[in-house]
Amino acid sequence: MIRFNVPPYTGKEMEYIKQAVDNMKICGDGEFTKKDNEWIEAKTGTAKALLTTSCTHALELAALLADIKPGDEVIMPAYTFVSTADAFVLRGAKVVFVDIRPDTMNIDEKLIEEAITDKTKCVVPVHYAGVGCEMDTIMEIAKRRNLMVIEDAAQGIMATYKGKALGTFGDFGAFSFHETKNYSMGEGGALLIRDEAHILDAEIIREKGTNRSQFFRGQIDKYTWMNYGSSYLPSDMNAAYLYAQLEMADAINEDRLRVWNRYNEGMKDLALEGKIEVPFIPEECTHNAHMFYIKSRDIEERSKLIDFLKKNDILSVFHYVPLHSAPAGRKFGRFNGEDKFTTKESERLTRLPLYYGLKDTQVDYIIEKVHEFYK
Ligand SMILES: *Cc1c(COP(=O)(O)O)cnc(C)c1O
Repeated sequence: MIRFNVPPYTGKEMEYIKQAVDNMKICGDGEFTKKDNEWIEAKTGTAKALLTTSCTHALELAALLADIKPGDEVIMPAYTFVSTADAFVLRGAKVVFVDIRPDTMNIDEKLIEEAITDKTKCVVPVHYAGVGCEMDTIMEIAKRRNLMVIEDAAQGIMATYKGKALGTFGDFGAFSFHETKNYSMGEGGALLIRDEAHILDAEIIREKGTNRSQFFRGQIDKYTWMNYGSSYLPSDMNAAYLYAQLEMADAINEDRLRVWNRYNEGMKDLALEGKIEVPFIPEECTHNAHMFYIKSRDIEERSKLIDFLKKNDILSVFHYVPLHSAPAGRKFGRFNGEDKFTTKESERLTRLPLYYGLKDTQVDYIIEKVHEFYK
């Protein structure tokens, strides 16, 4: 059976976890958390990265920092994971969904402006499959209309738009280190902060509303309760697991790109014949091979494809059911404009197995079976 995902493991994880244990510092903000934060800062150029317990929590932190209040409106695509919306719904905001572009499955930047009302507080682009949204346009609109931008870059680490790291354009960005993502710590994430002015507030909210981070840096002699907050710090044991992979990030990225490119090459003929569609990568974007998907004609054909692959020991999966069609989506949100592509395109999409270490022979076998299905 070829699994859909295998969590990344490079070999040094257990050694690093043991080091965290030997340091007798297994709570948050230990050695490895610092190393992870510094790695992310150096790699992306963000002013500050803070490791969190998940990307969901990084988005919640961002919503708190953006001071989202009941009645505020937040614009995002409906084709995304529930966490993108949850973070803002928890603050009482109304979610305004807009349609996606069929080529990248990202928010259609041309539809954002007409979704803005006098209640709109921020825009949340989601970089689907690690392929950047049209950030120049989105940032220009946000600046002109005085909106904040919070990037859901859960899938976007190691990917860029015009040479700049995803997650570093908006006021805040959020990465995920869930086991299904390119680099993992089981459950985990990171908040990226663009402007230094927000760093102290972020540290305080992440540490139960206290200024403990400043205390540990020796900047103050006792710490106290400063603001509302929560606990968004992962254990240093989890941070240690992640560090083993960040150290090898380039190798992991190249390995995933090998698989992605092999799929892309192997499926070219089917795409040219118009039987399937393969991912489109805009010229401005370098992607991180987070995902390889193919699009079938419609949902019936897709269901048959997934069944066929399963019978041949290949686990492939479909992806998001658009949020506006879910009970909570109807309750907390509205779709602005026409759903031209969100539902239709999401029903056509199948994700193929892609993970660090997936063998060429396995990729070739999957390509062969997809051809057999379309014959
Ligand atoms: C994975 C993912 C999340 C959630 O990440 P967690 O770390 O599991 O909380 C949010 N948004 C998108 C687009 C994702 O792919």
